[in-house]
Amino acid sequence: MTRRKFVAGNWKMNGSRATLGELDAIAAAAREASAVDVAVAVPFTLIDPAATRVPGLAIGAEDVHAAASGAHTGCVSAAMVKEAGARFTIVGHSERRADQHETSHDAWAKATAAHAAGLTVILCCGETEAERDAGRAERVVQAQIEKSVPDHAAGDWFTLAYEPRWAIGTGRTPTIDEIEAIHAIARAKLRQMVGDAADQIRILYGGSVTGTNAASILGAANVDGALVGGASLTAAKFVPIIDAAA
Ligand code: PGA
Repeated sequence: MTRRKFVAGNWKMNGSRATLGELDAIAAAAREASAVDVAVAVPFTLIDPAATRVPGLAIGAEDVHAAASGAHTGCVSAAMVKEAGARFTIVGHSERRADQHETSHDAWAKATAAHAAGLTVILCCGETEAERDAGRAERVVQAQIEKSVPDHAAGDWFTLAYEPRWAIGTGRTPTIDEIEAIHAIARAKLRQMVGDAADQIRILYGGSVTGTNAASILGAANVDGALVGGASLTAAKFVPIIDAAA
């Protein structure tokens, strides 16, 4: 089965109204690359102006709270980001797992809440360097998937992103063989959980993807796209990755 390639940016805690102009060329490249789905997750404060500026581009949130509303000072719900113009959200990013002590169960709850609110979801998993060195990368990723992927996950709203923590923002990437090995076990685990629907679920690779390495990573088996941090901040760096997926 063929899955459409998907290239998603993650601006993290970067960007401002002054840098939203980068999205103009990204949106233009996305229009050109008609075989590729392109999306950009931005800080909460930029969702509305970004979605207003480039209505043709899927703008999303980098996180949402698992509850629909309530006494959660400083948090933002899925319905709130949707109202601001988000079409999707990332959940379970390793920076939230590390900085905010989020668990795979939290990621599950957030993914479930986001879907209920009408957002599509990119759920992240990935091992630390110590876990890889100990030969535990595959088991760690399998366990994360088991605990965080909603039971009814389906390709029309759910995407998995494999992001080894040690590859994020470091300029280091696993070998293509290592990426293919994890993506294969991730696909198998999804199949165990959701059956044939696993064939429709896209699995992105993330961690130091650039215009230089994108073509070989995107050509790997079971790699359906990329989740891109640093290189999504400017059109000059992000557009070559979109082009490599086209
Ligand atoms: P990076 O980040 O591309 O800057 O390594 C990827 C991510 O954290 O999604």
